[in-house]
Order: sequence, then C-alpha cells, then structure tokens
Amino acid sequence: MHGAALSAPDTGFTPDITHAECRKCGTRVAGLDGRYACGVCGWTNDWSEGHRPLPRAEDDPDYPGPGAPAANPLAH
Ligand SMILES: [Zn+2]
Repeated sequence: MHGAALSAPDTGFTPDITHAECRKCGTRVAGLDGRYACGVCGWTNDWSEGHRPLPRAEDDPDYPGPGAPAANPLAH
C-alpha cells in the first residue's frame, strides 16, 4: 500500500465533544455526541442517549458485506 493517506477516511461523521456529570460518582466526564464513560468508577450511559444514531455496519469502510458473519469491531 504505497502513498496511503494518514488522514481518516471521510465518512461524513464528525462527533461533537460534550460534557456531563457521572451519574454514579459525580465526576465531570467528557464524551462524544452525548455518550459518556467515566474513567473513575466505570459508569457508562446507554448508547441510545447519544445525540445521533450510531453509524451502521454498512457505513464502515471495512464492512465485509451482508453475507459475512458478525464480528465485534472492538475485538481486534
Ligand atoms: Zn463515575
């Protein structure tokens, strides 16, 4: 792969940085699009509280196609 661009692929998805208080320990936490994970106690809010829908698998440039087995994108 020669000349691979270092910049992220243009997916049209630019998350906003948002802030909130951890509902478990009260620590000020920063998140993206209303999704938070507390680094102190491990609290996370539900993904559905995000400000916009999650990208679909079809939007991923690595999406292998509808016939491929589901894989955890965080596993590798
Ligand atoms: Zn917390």
